[in-house]
Amino acid sequence: MDETSGRSIAIREFISTDTARVWARQPNPGAIAVSIVQSKFNTTQFELSDPALFRGFSYIGGRWTAGAAAQMFAVSNPADGSHLGDVASLSAVDSAGAIDAAQEAFAAWSSMLPQKRSAILRRWFELMLEHKQDLAQIMTLEQGKPISEARGEIEYGASFVEFFAEEAKRPNIESVTSHLPDAEVEIWREPVGVAALITPWNFPSAMLTRKAAAALAAGCTVVAHPSAETPFSALALAELAERAGFPAGVFNVITGSAPVVVEPWMKDKRVRAVSFTGSTEIGKLLYRQSADTVKRLVLELGGHAPFIVFADADLRQAVAEAIKAKFATSGQDCLGTNRFFIERPVYDAFCTKFAGATAKLTVGIGMDDPDLGPLMNEKAVAKQEEHVADALAKGARLLIGGNRHKAGILFYEPTVLADVPADALIMHEETFGPVAAISAFDTEEEVLQKANDTEYGLVAYLHTQDPRRIYRASRALQFGMVAVNRTKVTGAPIPFGGMKQSGLEREGSRLGMEAFTEVKYVCRDWA
Ligand code: NAP
Repeated sequence: MDETSGRSIAIREFISTDTARVWARQPNPGAIAVSIVQSKFNTTQFELSDPALFRGFSYIGGRWTAGAAAQMFAVSNPADGSHLGDVASLSAVDSAGAIDAAQEAFAAWSSMLPQKRSAILRRWFELMLEHKQDLAQIMTLEQGKPISEARGEIEYGASFVEFFAEEAKRPNIESVTSHLPDAEVEIWREPVGVAALITPWNFPSAMLTRKAAAALAAGCTVVAHPSAETPFSALALAELAERAGFPAGVFNVITGSAPVVVEPWMKDKRVRAVSFTGSTEIGKLLYRQSADTVKRLVLELGGHAPFIVFADADLRQAVAEAIKAKFATSGQDCLGTNRFFIERPVYDAFCTKFAGATAKLTVGIGMDDPDLGPLMNEKAVAKQEEHVADALAKGARLLIGGNRHKAGILFYEPTVLADVPADALIMHEETFGPVAAISAFDTEEEVLQKANDTEYGLVAYLHTQDPRRIYRASRALQFGMVAVNRTKVTGAPIPFGGMKQSGLEREGSRLGMEAFTEVKYVCRDWA
């Protein structure tokens, strides 16, 4: 590491096993010295004002640890493949140790005065905002998203901490009048115990805070596994959680291979709730794994959002919203639109305007704040290629894009396909990238049937000016969230979640705490 020569260098530090062990004994172990990153495109400079936020070790029981074997894995920047840093790869035994720490901390945390729990959560929220720029930079470097989107995610993620800091003070105790003579009845809500949280790479900060803040506010302690693609954002949040004053063992972040780290949690009966955001495939696996110990389960899984434009819609607004609904986070968003259904009288106009607006989108390195950054990995790029080739082979028309982007190997051009037939893969599978598939429809009944013809049910977008149709369609759409004449619908106070195979339960809002609490009924006899 060269901090003095003035040469720009990457946050690239080879961490040998020995180094890792030495760090484990230091007062601030796991903090990677950060200087400057310069991408090979020579346009991006990166400097953290608080380098201690860039952590490489897991955080368990209030200690930063590389685990017993001190194994590390490398994390790279998807924009250019450069090495960002190494992160501890914990074993199943280390991971089980995290449950011990969380279980030990549970009694004191769950019985702490809610006002005190709330104050610690509130401090965590404030620290996130104070360090917004650093947190956003870490996210952009490991995830690739444009820096302004990353800043937005930090604010969004922090808003859940603020919201649940308030909710912590208002445990939802119901009151009923006794139905039995000489008896008094009470209904209490109690924290379930240790909660396991498993989060994906596309929103590495907000997906963690949306789960953790609700669980912690309810009085649960937490073991969390961030995606191995983007562990640094979660570790930075752990650093801030420590500074906020969470007692040791209350909030633990365990890095490493997901199956290795998570499996012991699924088997352990002390883990009472599991909250997962990711693919439907892994969600189903965790569903099965949780059966033996009958855990509470929150699943936020895939989406396959339809975007419906009726002929009476404000077309200019519909196109502007369509761009957001397709290309935010380079399309790697469970709320991202996969299928555009446009009523025939405005079909050609929509296709022309949408392709025109797509052509203006900029693509590049996240730190340069383009409209779109890279995709997460090669698998994601290959999926775009597969879906485009399949749609074209089945008769779709390519309006724009359709190739890898010259910005780098993980970049894909914003792409628009028209006349996409119903049997194309893209009409059935999540593309999770910047490819838009458009087709025409003739009647309301037809489009609602097409929109619902999916195993997913997360969000649907609807554009029309007819209030009666808005009501009918909102009722008929089998989706957990319906956005009418707009795209942005999320936020801490709303229940986020999907129907059918898009998931179970809701996150955010008061409902977000339910999976982390048990209802207890007490009946006292006065006779
Ligand atoms: P994924 O492969 O299911 O991974 C999600 C998380 O699960 C990651 O932390 C991953 O860790 C972990 N994981 C992988 N295999 C596991 C296993 N055997 N046991 C336990 N955990 C395991 O999904 P992804 O590709 O990262 O994310 C994209 C998917 O997530 C899309 O389908 C998208 O729609 C969905 N998503 C849904 C929402 C929502 O709120 N509904 C939000 C965002 C994303 P590693 O990355 O380390 O392997």
